[in-house]
Amino acid sequence: MSGPDTWSQVRPAVARSLLPWFDRNQRDLPWRRRRTPYRVWVAELMLHQTRVDQVEPYYRRFIRRFPSLKSLAEAPLQTVLKHWEGLGYYARARNAHRTARHLVAQQHGRFPRTYEGLLALPGVGPYTAAAVASLAYNLDYAVLDGNVIRVLSRLTAFPADVRQPANRTILQQRANALLVPGHAARCNEAMMELGALICTPRNPRCDRCPLRKVCAARQAGTPTAYPRKTPRRPVPHKEVGAAVIFNRRGEVLVAQRRTTAMLGGLWEFPGGTREPGESLPACVARELREELGVTLQVGERLLIVKHAYSHFTIALHVYAARIRQGRPRAIECADYDWRPVERLRELPFSRADWAIIDFLEKAPAGGRHYRPFSGA
Ligand code: SF4
Repeated sequence: MSGPDTWSQVRPAVARSLLPWFDRNQRDLPWRRRRTPYRVWVAELMLHQTRVDQVEPYYRRFIRRFPSLKSLAEAPLQTVLKHWEGLGYYARARNAHRTARHLVAQQHGRFPRTYEGLLALPGVGPYTAAAVASLAYNLDYAVLDGNVIRVLSRLTAFPADVRQPANRTILQQRANALLVPGHAARCNEAMMELGALICTPRNPRCDRCPLRKVCAARQAGTPTAYPRKTPRRPVPHKEVGAAVIFNRRGEVLVAQRRTTAMLGGLWEFPGGTREPGESLPACVARELREELGVTLQVGERLLIVKHAYSHFTIALHVYAARIRQGRPRAIECADYDWRPVERLRELPFSRADWAIIDFLEKAPAGGRHYRPFSGA
C-alpha cells in the first residue's frame, strides 16, 4: 500500500496516535523550556545539520552568555564565534550576529510575528522561518528537516529522489497537509521526535511506532529503502599546508580569516591549499607570502591533521617555519596576531586548528623548540 491510499489514513493517525505519543515521550531539551522566538531561533540555527546531543552543551553555554537578542547584538563577532567554535557551519553564527544587530537597530529588538517577516531576515530560509513561526508562535507552518523527510518518505513509500528540489516541494506539501490546525508546534516537534527516536536511519523501531498501522514502507517490509537518494559524488580531497612560526618572544603567529571566506572570522595557523605540482613546503611559503607578505624558511613537518568538512576532506600538513624577510601585514586575511601558546584558546579556531593547538600545548615549552633553523 502506498501513495494516496495510505495517505488518507496518515492524516487522522497523526492526531489520534502521533501527538499523544509525543506528549508522553518527548525529550526534556533545553530549548523546549521557556520558549521564546529568540531561543527557538538559536536552537534551530544550531540544530541545522548537527545532532541534538552535540548541540545541547553549545546551546546552554550560548544562551547563558547571550540571553537576549540585545546581548547577542552588542557582542563582538569574535565572541559569538568563540561560543560557536567546534559546532561547524560558521555562517550560521555570522548570520545570527548580523540578524541580531539588524533586529535591534531596525525592529526595536523584536522578531517579526509572521512567516513572511521571518523569511525576510538575513540568513533565514524557509526551514528556519517555518520553525520559528510554528514553535514560537504556533502558526500553521510545517517544517521539513532530515528527520521529517525520512518519516514522510517511509510513511508513503515515496519513490522519488528526495535530494531533488521538485520532490522536496512534494514532501513539503505533504508535511503541510499533516498539520493539525492550531497544533503546529506539537505536530512539527512530534514528527521530528519520531524521526530522532523511533524512525531512525538504520534501525527503525517500527514495532514501537505510533504510526505503524498506516506506514506503507513498514507494510511492504522495506523501511530502510527510504528515503530514496541518488548517491553523492565522491567528496574532493585537498592537501593543505600551514606554518607554525615563533617570534623571539616565544609567541606564535596566527591569522584571522576574512568574514567572506569559508570559516570566516575564525583564526588559523596561516597557510592554504597546495596547487598542482607544488610541494607542501613551497605551498606554505607561497601562502604566507600572499596572505601576510613575509618570506619563509620552511623546516620540519610537525604533524598531519586529517579533517572532513561537509563537501571536502583535507590533510593539513603543519610545518615549523621562520620568517626570513618582512613583517607580517594582513594582505589576504582580516588580521594577524602573535600569541603565547597558552593564550591561543582565547581566540576562535576551527577543529582542524585545535589539533595544532593540542600539539603545541603538549610539546615541551609550548613547541618553541620547533624553531627549524639555528638563530631563529
Ligand atoms: S512504521 Fe517504521 S518506517 Fe514507518 S514511520 Fe514508523 S518507524 Fe518509520
